[in-house]
Amino acid sequence: MDFNLTREQEMLRDMVREFAQRELAPKALALDAKGEFIHDIIKKTAELGLVGIITSKEFGGTGMGHLARMLMIEELSRIYASLGFFFQTGQIGMYAIENFGTPEQKQKYLPALCKADKIISTALTEAGGGSDPSAIQTTAELKGDEYIINGRKVMISEAPVCDLAIIVAKTGDKFSAFIVEKGTPGFTTSGKENYVGLRSLPVGDLVFTNCKVPKANLLGQEGKGLAVAIGGISAVGRTGVAGVALGTAEGAYAAAVKYAKERKLYGKPIAELQAIQYMLVDCNMEIETARWLCYKAAVLLDQGKSPRDAGDDITRCKLYSCDIASKVALRAIQIMGGYGTIPQYEITRRLNDSIELFTAAGTQEIMKNTLARSIIA
Ligand SMILES: Cc1cc2nc3c(=O)[nH]c(=O)nc-3n(C[C@H](O)[C@H](O)[C@H](O)COP(=O)(O)OP(=O)(O)OC[C@H]3O[C@@H](n4cnc5c(N)ncnc54)[C@H](O)[C@@H]3O)c2cc1C
Repeated sequence: MDFNLTREQEMLRDMVREFAQRELAPKALALDAKGEFIHDIIKKTAELGLVGIITSKEFGGTGMGHLARMLMIEELSRIYASLGFFFQTGQIGMYAIENFGTPEQKQKYLPALCKADKIISTALTEAGGGSDPSAIQTTAELKGDEYIINGRKVMISEAPVCDLAIIVAKTGDKFSAFIVEKGTPGFTTSGKENYVGLRSLPVGDLVFTNCKVPKANLLGQEGKGLAVAIGGISAVGRTGVAGVALGTAEGAYAAAVKYAKERKLYGKPIAELQAIQYMLVDCNMEIETARWLCYKAAVLLDQGKSPRDAGDDITRCKLYSCDIASKVALRAIQIMGGYGTIPQYEITRRLNDSIELFTAAGTQEIMKNTLARSIIA
C-alpha cells in the first residue's frame, strides 16, 4: 500500500502538534495529578474542528477522515493520552449516530456533539463480563410508544459527565441500541471511578431504573444493536485506542532519548552505552511498525472499506500498538534509572496510561481470537 499525507493532513498534524505543545505539555503533570475532566481543553479542540473530524460537514463536522483522526490522536496522546482517549470514546457514538441514526437523530445530536456542547458515552460493558455480549442483562421492554430500560452498565468512559449515551440492551432474545438523554427519569450516572491511568478520563457506571425512552430513540433497527455498537467500536474505538497507544509510546520514547543523551556516566552520555542503544532501537522499531499498522487501517477506512472488510488491519493495529506501548514505557523507565520511577519525570504516567489500553475497545485476547478466526477461515 502506498500513500502520502495530503497537504491538508500535514497541516492538521502540525497544527495539533503545536496545540499539544502549547495547551497540554506545560500542564500534563498537573492535569494527571488532579484527575478532572478537561472539558475546557476539549472545547478548544472542538473550536479547531477536531471533535467532528470524522463527522460530515452537513452535521457540523469537518469530515477530514480516519487518517486525519489518527494523526490527531497520535499527536495529542504523545503529550497527554487522556485527551487522545476522549476522541476514541466520543467519536464511537458520533460514528454510530451518523451511520445508523435517523435524519432526525443526526440533526438533533451531531452538531452539539461536534461543538463539545454535549458529551456522549457508548455503553456495552456490564459487570457480568465485557468480552461476552451474551452477559448483557440490561433489558428494554416496549410498552406503547416507549421502551422501559432496566440495568447497569459499568466501566463506561465519560459516564459521570455524559449528556447522552448509546446503550445496548436486550429486547427479547436479541440486542438493540438506544440513545438515552441525561435528565430522562430513571437514568442516573455514578461518580468517577479511580483508575490508575488516563486520569482525566472520567469512567463510571450508567444506571437505568424503569427508565422510559421514546421509541424514536431506538438507534438502528430493533434486534441489530450489536452491529450498531460493534461497527463503531471497531472502526472508531479500536483504531482510536491504537492511536492513543502509538502516541503514548512515542511520548515515552522521546523522553528516553532525551534523557539518554543528557545523562552522563563514566564521563559520557549513557546514550553511548550499547545496552541503552539496544533498548532505544527496540522502541524505535516497534513504534515505526505500530505507526504503519495504524495509518494503514485508517487509510483503508478512508478508501471506503467497511469496518468488517478492514477488520484484520484494524485488529492488527489495536493489538500491536497496545502491546508495544507498555513495553516502550517500561524500557523508558529502565533507561531513566531511579528517576524513571518518579512521577515528576512523566514516564510512570505513560506506563499507567498504557495499562488502560489493553482492555479498552476489546481486550488483547479478544483481538487475537478475532484475527485467528480470520486466519483459519
Ligand atoms: C479505560 C477504559 C475505558 C472503557 N470504556 C468503555 C466504554 O466506554 N464502554 C464500554 O462498553 N466499555 C468500556 N470499557 C470496558 C472494556 O470494554 C472492558 O474492560 C473489556 O471489554 C473487557 O471486559 P472485562 O473488563 O469485563 O474483562 P473480561 O471480559 O471479564 O475478561 C477477563 C479476561 O479474560 C480474557 N478473555 C475473555 N474472553 C476470552 C476469550 N474468549 N478468549 C480468551 N481470553 C478471553 C480477557 O482478554 C481478559 O484477559 C472500558 C475499559 C477501560 C479500561
